[in-house]
Order: sequence, then C-alpha cells, then structure tokens
Amino acid sequence: MTDMMKTFVMKTIGEVGFMEKPVPVDPGPTGAIVKTTRALVCTSDTHTVGGAIGERENLTLGHEAVGTVHRLGREVKGVQVGDRVAVNAITPCYTCANCLRGYTSQCQQMLGGWKFANIKDGNFAEYFHVNNAEANLAPIPDAVPDEAAVYTTDMMSTGFMGAEHGNIPLGGTVAVFAQGPVGLMATAGARLLGAGQVLAVETRPKRQKLARHFGADVVIDFRKVNPVEAILDMTGREGVDTAIESLGSEKTFQDCIKVTRPGGTVSNIGYHGKDEFIGIPRQEWGVGMSDITIRTGLCPGGKVRMRRLLRLIETERIDPTPMTTHTFSFDELDKAFHMMETKEDEIIKPLIRFD
Ligand SMILES: [Zn+2]
Ligand SMILES: [Zn+2]
Repeated sequence: MTDMMKTFVMKTIGEVGFMEKPVPVDPGPTGAIVKTTRALVCTSDTHTVGGAIGERENLTLGHEAVGTVHRLGREVKGVQVGDRVAVNAITPCYTCANCLRGYTSQCQQMLGGWKFANIKDGNFAEYFHVNNAEANLAPIPDAVPDEAAVYTTDMMSTGFMGAEHGNIPLGGTVAVFAQGPVGLMATAGARLLGAGQVLAVETRPKRQKLARHFGADVVIDFRKVNPVEAILDMTGREGVDTAIESLGSEKTFQDCIKVTRPGGTVSNIGYHGKDEFIGIPRQEWGVGMSDITIRTGLCPGGKVRMRRLLRLIETERIDPTPMTTHTFSFDELDKAFHMMETKEDEIIKPLIRFD
C-alpha cells in the first residue's frame, strides 16, 4: 500500500486547495527526501497561482522550507538521515553550462534553478524531494532554530543579494523601495555590508517599524511625500550609490533609476509578474549613458551560501524572526495563503508548523 501525505496545491490558475498525494519514496541516486518541519508562505506563491508563470495543474506549492533528512540517495555525501537541513528555494544542478558559468539560479535555462512549485512539486507537503542533494542540503547549526533557519531559504538569500549586487561602498547611501520581507532583508543586508545611510520607502506602519528595526535610518512614506524628491533632497541632490527595487513594479523600478547617481547601481530583486515591458526613464538614465548599472538576480542557492546565511543567524548578526507576524498549522495553510493574497492584518510572513 502506498503511504499518502497531505499537500497544498495550485489546482489551476486562481485556484488552490489541499490534496492527498503519495509520499515520495525514491530519492534517486543523487537526491533526497526531506520531512518538512517549518515553511513560510511567499508572495511569489500567490503570483504563481495568479498565473505569472502560466498554467499548472495540481502542482504542490511552496519553496521556503526546512526539515529533517528522511531518505538519501546512495551517492549523497556529507549529510545523514535525521539531520536538520535547510533547502534553498533555488536548487541548481551545478553541472550544466549556466551553473558552470557561475549563474546557478539560471540552471539550464533562464530562472531554471527555481524548481520547487515551478517545474516540480514544492514543499507545502509533509515530505518533499530535493534534487542534487549533496549541493542543496544545508545542515542547520544546533543553535539555530527551524523558525529562524527557514528565512535563509529565500527572504535572506534574496534580500541580501539585493544589497550584495548593489556595489555599496563602505559608508555609501542606499535607497530600498518597499519593505516587504525581501525589502526588509535588503535593508538589513545593506546595513551589514556597511552602508552609511539606508533610506527605506514604505507606507504600512508595521513594515515601517520593522524597517527601522532592521537598519533603516529614515523611512519615507510614499503616500505623504514624493519618494524620489525626498531621496534626492536627503542626498544633496546627488542621488544614492545604490537603489534596490524590492517590490516588482514598473513605477518603483523607474524611481530607482531616478534616484541613482551617475555610476551607481540599481539592484532589482522584485518579481515583475505582469505587463510585457518595463520602461526606463530616458533622461534620468542619462539618455542611456549614465554609467548606471542595472543588476538582476534570483535567490542564490546551494549549501555554501546557505551555510553563510545560517552563520549570520548563529552568530547573532541578524535575527529574521520578527518578520513572522502570524503562525499557522499546516491544516490552516489555506487561511495563511488567502491572507498573503490580501495582506490583511498587515501580514508579513506566515510561518507554517508541520507538527
Ligand atoms: Zn519565496
Ligand atoms: Zn545547472
């Protein structure tokens, strides 16, 4: 008899629900099966269900999870059954041409490192399969609880990448547009990398408070002031060294260009889930000759990066758990998912408990 497990799936565009599926039994020679202990719901999951990457049928959602190793492929070294592990949302193969070029998130094809809840079942399930497990399973240090470790799987990796791609000079100025969980981690990352002034753009009160907590010097409420004018005023009309787009809207992307000084960097981490084109404001872009760099990227994965992110929690450089505004059992995931769609009760991150 096949053991069955509970999963939470995208049935079709615009429709989600619980579904029984067989427990995955065969990890394959290089894979692993992980028993889920904690997961986070991501706004990206709601974009996926909204149709951002096209139609999917009964695909298990979720890409931010930690757990314990349940089964291991015979070729996997460095971890044991029973180990607590974090698995990044992005699980590259580390052998294809794009991986060998160093762009592992673009594994095999553009965005191809993103496998969970995209090209294979995700981890809103009691068990999930991990490909290339030796590279993609990151043991969690004893001192780091699952509730904190789960933030390394996307929010910390993506948010910090926004800052890392920003070429922030020590003491430099940084503007971070939107303080959702990824933007909050971009703010924290800018501070960790030595920014001298972090200007965060956000209107929701709970997010404004967390922005200050994670290192913003000033929070600009775009409903009260024009953020571009405010940022230019605060930087002596020079503009910032680095602008980080962490919303995924054309307006904020354009604002990033407008506030970045010549030679500065616009670092995009927002998920631009709609419309055919993103326009660039021509004049502020120096008619294409401003020496402004536009960087893009997708949540870097792999155990080496994960180990560094976990170390930052272990050594108390950062505690991501204040972003957990709500906690649900797995049975209540439908409710958590709905709240992520509507952002009601100022939800930032719902933590899902599997025990
Ligand atoms: Zn995510
Ligand atoms: Zn690859």
